[in-house]
Amino acid sequence: MELYNTLVHKKSGFKAIRQKEIRMYSCGPTVYNHAHVGNFRAYIVSDTLRRVFEHLSYKVTHVMNITDVGQLVGDGNLGEDKLKQTARIEHKSAKEVAREYERLFIKDIKKLNIEMPSVIARATDHIPQMLNLIEKLDKKGYLYRAETGMYFDTSKFGDYGKLSGSDFKRLNASLMGGARVERPAGTRNITDFAVWRFSPADEKEMVWDSKYGRGFPGWHIECSAISMEYLGDHFDVHTGGVDHIQIHHQNEIAQSEGATGKKFVNFWVHNEFLKVNGSKMSKSLHNTYTIEDLEGMGISPQGYRYFVLTGHYRSIMNMTVDALKSAQRTIESIYSFIERISGSMPEGVPEKEFGAEIKKLGQEFFRRMEDDMNTPEALASMHALISIANKRNASRKLSNGDRDAVVAVLLEMDGVLGLSFKEHTATKPLSAEPRRLIEEREYARKSGDFGSADEIRRELRDRFGIIVEDTKDGPQWRRK
Ligand code: AMP
Ligand code: ZN
Repeated sequence: MELYNTLVHKKSGFKAIRQKEIRMYSCGPTVYNHAHVGNFRAYIVSDTLRRVFEHLSYKVTHVMNITDVGQLVGDGNLGEDKLKQTARIEHKSAKEVAREYERLFIKDIKKLNIEMPSVIARATDHIPQMLNLIEKLDKKGYLYRAETGMYFDTSKFGDYGKLSGSDFKRLNASLMGGARVERPAGTRNITDFAVWRFSPADEKEMVWDSKYGRGFPGWHIECSAISMEYLGDHFDVHTGGVDHIQIHHQNEIAQSEGATGKKFVNFWVHNEFLKVNGSKMSKSLHNTYTIEDLEGMGISPQGYRYFVLTGHYRSIMNMTVDALKSAQRTIESIYSFIERISGSMPEGVPEKEFGAEIKKLGQEFFRRMEDDMNTPEALASMHALISIANKRNASRKLSNGDRDAVVAVLLEMDGVLGLSFKEHTATKPLSAEPRRLIEEREYARKSGDFGSADEIRRELRDRFGIIVEDTKDGPQWRRK
């Protein structure tokens, strides 16, 4: 597989460190607010990458953190902790806020059919690992004490800046070049960052004792400590949005490599941003849409996932209502195509030439996916397949043998697209009337009215050709 690696600023052949396993880390959400659709672009991209690896028969160990402490409101090193700020506004404890938004995040992840990471790790459950890493850095002379916390001296890490294609001197000079830069008292370089922050004496929540003083961890140290805890000092892939290249990921590299003296991550994969109507998503513009907002507009999570896949992950995408609606129409037309051909078909063995054609399109699809996840082109291969199968079906030449071959290739493609094709291959969904009768019968049965339940069962069979059976999981239906 070819993959663009931010670290070397080019596409290169992917090689796993271990033979059959890929270890991968994705920066997770800061759970102080609803995750927005832009965040989910990042998670759909990392999920697609994971699925491509799995299609290539790798076992993927995927770790994601949940930031439930330590990320400040302001850029750089200033401001209040985001979680504490929400807690203050919502009159809740920081922990309550964190758990609630974590729950909502996981709910959306499931709706979007994003595979659950092998490990989801909360920052607050890994304070000892972070302190351990901080002590290692301290022993190696990377840290110094300032008024507000323990800071990493970025001038001491030789490779600082390499991820963004810069270096320590140039970065600091360019940051100095702009408006006057505010920075915490006693810090030495603009790029220096806190690994441990001191808390005020009366702070009761989200504070931990350490040999440096009572406080809480900086945000960057969290990802270094959690990724190395579960994936080791040196692992394959780290993902995130492009906004994290210059600061967060650069700092992760400095901390991890500073502590271990080893290369941290082989491949850094970054997704570009999602914009809304040409603008950056921001609270002040009221354009930070959630998955629920989209659902309210008639855009399903699958429709949004499809929309994300129509763009290359390294291109900026612009979300508009029209683009979302068009994605929704397309995904629905794919589903209805699958449902249409999933019914009974003329008997017949797969036709050779047709079989060869769909096989070729299947191979083309995966070649494109393995070429730096070229999802828009891969989707074009999938649409080409649907189009020829549709034509064959319209002229009544699609046999059940051909159909099975088409569905098999589509399901294989869906293994990496994650668009839930399988759910549409079974039987066509029921229309409203039989659905209502099934519910009515279940109500009768539950209230002990078995006479009515039997009568409705007969009606379903005679009028709609639907057989209902009671199982331990409730009533199940099939077509006669
Ligand atoms: P955060 O909680 O801010 O760390 O964001 C979670 C993930 O979403 C990170 O990988 C970010 O880089 C990514 N992200 C944030 N905003 C956007 C956006 N508008 N488009 C794409 N990715 C984003
Ligand atoms: Zn991170």
